[in-house]
Amino acid sequence: MTARILVVDDVPANVKLLEARLVAEYFDVLTAGDGHAALATCEKTPVDLVLLDIMMPGMDGFEVCERLKANSRTAHIPVVMITALDQPSDRVRGLKAGADDFLTKPVNDLQLMSRVKSLVRLKNVSDELRLRAQTAQTIGLQELARVDRPDEPGSVLLVDGRASSQERLTRALKPIADVAVISDPQAALFEAAESSFDLIIVNANFDDYDPLRLCSQLRSLERTRFIPILLVTEQGNDERIVRALELGVTDYIMRPVDPNELVARSLTQIRRKHCNDRLRASVQQTIELAVTDDLTGLHNRRYLENHLKLLIDRATTRGRPLSICITDIDRFKRVNDTHGHDAGDDVLREFANRVRATVRGADLACRFGGEEFVVVMPDTTPEMAAIVAERLRLAVESRGFDIPQAATVLNVTASLGIATLRPHGDTAEAWLKRADMALYQAKNGGRNRVVAAAA
Ligand code: GH3
Ligand code: MG
Ligand code: MG
Repeated sequence: MTARILVVDDVPANVKLLEARLVAEYFDVLTAGDGHAALATCEKTPVDLVLLDIMMPGMDGFEVCERLKANSRTAHIPVVMITALDQPSDRVRGLKAGADDFLTKPVNDLQLMSRVKSLVRLKNVSDELRLRAQTAQTIGLQELARVDRPDEPGSVLLVDGRASSQERLTRALKPIADVAVISDPQAALFEAAESSFDLIIVNANFDDYDPLRLCSQLRSLERTRFIPILLVTEQGNDERIVRALELGVTDYIMRPVDPNELVARSLTQIRRKHCNDRLRASVQQTIELAVTDDLTGLHNRRYLENHLKLLIDRATTRGRPLSICITDIDRFKRVNDTHGHDAGDDVLREFANRVRATVRGADLACRFGGEEFVVVMPDTTPEMAAIVAERLRLAVESRGFDIPQAATVLNVTASLGIATLRPHGDTAEAWLKRADMALYQAKNGGRNRVVAAAA
């Protein structure tokens, strides 16, 4: 993981110390000796994270943080405040100023690295999201462009063996999350796999159970692999924490738990989870857009051509019939010529609706191009295909097409050609060709009819 980190401290020795540790982990480090220099650097260079001292002459850390968060160009940069251990009120002020995390002086190496890495990971994901939002905006996809939504409440699973701490942690998390509590770690594994949590907090306080076992199981299950885990653990056991982080625990917090710290760390993880979820959904949506026809919402030709291979393989190995129907609207050019292209589009959309309403869920309906549509029907014999095609023909002919664009109702008909895959030695091309020939015959025979290709 490489990232550019800005270290801000008025004491040069502190700057040097942090810089040396971060450089040793291959981070790219910038430094600033006061608040003004820090703000200037963030304005003119891309920074992935700011480590910010609080006590500085002139502008203190709180003000630097507030200004960073108030500027739309720098608001997305995570800020880690470095607070004194004996000043818990600093954390509250830091949170109010918009800080994403805390570190206490003297800064412990393990904490420094786990916090920095966790926040840099979060920023990478949100950067990617913002980039996609830009592209989405350019090509007019408003749905994909909404990135900077306010925080939605998280859903947290708290695994905790003791009633007293269950109560305390739940109360602390209440403002930011819905918390489900469970005492039995093995039951927790099932609960986590069954529901969809944004964060699992494991309090390492069980009498005779190793909490790292649960963490490792959560990491190995498909359903829970990507849920962040926050481990609550006792002080002075760095080896176990290192072990936990190696196992895939995302972050940790020491006892006694400071409620502000718990809230800040939980929020970071919940945001990251939400961010990842949105990113995944946007990838999904992009894929869908690439295989969907804009006008009708049916699958497009590219999708059909890719999916057809799978359908053919499956039908062949299972020895099941597979039929295809190609349909082409009759005299469609006249619609465009008489009522305009927009009215033509209305006809295509309504035609697609009737196709959708006629076929079964297992059938694949696509717009093949222009005014040509294809339906692929698994487990369908030639006889059944003829029935479906006739039903579709009738669904088009029997009711006029409402054309709001031209304030009129049009009578539309279509011609259909059907063909069934041959059990041996058939190819997608040959099969489609037979259906297309049948369609051609339907057109030649007078249109508004179904013709089946010879078996
Ligand atoms: P036939 O009965 O022989 O199929 O006659 P036809 O007029 O339907 O066939 P032809 O292939 O001559 O014309 C198809 C027309 O479909 C021509 C083209 O402009 C129009 N078309 C293709 N795609 C679209 C589209 O997305 N929207 C609209 N409005 N028209 C389209
Ligand atoms: Mg046509
Ligand atoms: Mg045509």
